[in-house]
Amino acid sequence: MKIKFLGSAAYDAIPAPFCCCEICERSRERKGHNIRSRTQALINEDLLIDFNADTISHFLKYNIDTKKIKHCLITHSHSDHLYVSDMLIPQYSKESVIVNYYAAEHGYQFILKGIEEIPVMKKYATLTCIEPYKSFTCGKYQITPFPANHDPSSSPVIFVIEEEGKRILYAHDTGVFFEEIFEKFTTLGRFDLISLDCTGALTAGYRHGHMNIETNLEMIDRLRKLKVIDDKTKIVLNHFSHNGGATYDDLVSCVPKELIVGYDGLTLEI
Ligand SMILES: [Zn+2]
Ligand SMILES: [Zn+2]
Ligand SMILES: [Zn+2]
Repeated sequence: MKIKFLGSAAYDAIPAPFCCCEICERSRERKGHNIRSRTQALINEDLLIDFNADTISHFLKYNIDTKKIKHCLITHSHSDHLYVSDMLIPQYSKESVIVNYYAAEHGYQFILKGIEEIPVMKKYATLTCIEPYKSFTCGKYQITPFPANHDPSSSPVIFVIEEEGKRILYAHDTGVFFEEIFEKFTTLGRFDLISLDCTGALTAGYRHGHMNIETNLEMIDRLRKLKVIDDKTKIVLNHFSHNGGATYDDLVSCVPKELIVGYDGLTLEI
């Protein structure tokens, strides 16, 4: 299974528009991996995770053959993960492939409203309401959503994605995991790759809603003790904010070497 991180920032991107903070200023200067668009990922060539306002520019930037995208999982309804207006672009195509969207309650309602307002969209999109702990199949993937420790009004979930015996935990926009989740993870088996929310990076106080490096390390330690991750598991830190107090360059020099600091375009194979 291949995962490509199309974007790696929180809502405000880095540099954030109009922001004069030191992190944004240094990122503008250093460029490269210090420049971050909003978080989104592509599994293999056919499974998209989230659909934010940077989606179209990601498709163009990475030369993605969008006709191969069959499914799209939505983590929650915040606008840096769900931007319904651009999902409705196929209404202007004479012919277009069908994309199957999967979202929990709040995101589901947003997308449903968009599709219902433009009847032709029913030809190009299907929509499924998903629930935490209820596994489902999309294409060749087995997906299990778990509740995220994040704004409850956005119906937030994190995903376990399985294909051909490989397993990814995609956990962005969550604080420290809910206690009951750890136990459930042990019934699934080992993760080949985990990607953790690191919005707060070096800034203290990120336990609920989002995490920072300190809480990421705590989660990693917990998962290691449960033996659901090991030395071969790829561990990615991702979804960064300028308020985290670190550029990409700062982070790579301060996190343990076995951790991968996410960036736009990072591609990993498991
Ligand atoms: Zn976010
Ligand atoms: Zn800033
Ligand atoms: Zn969010």
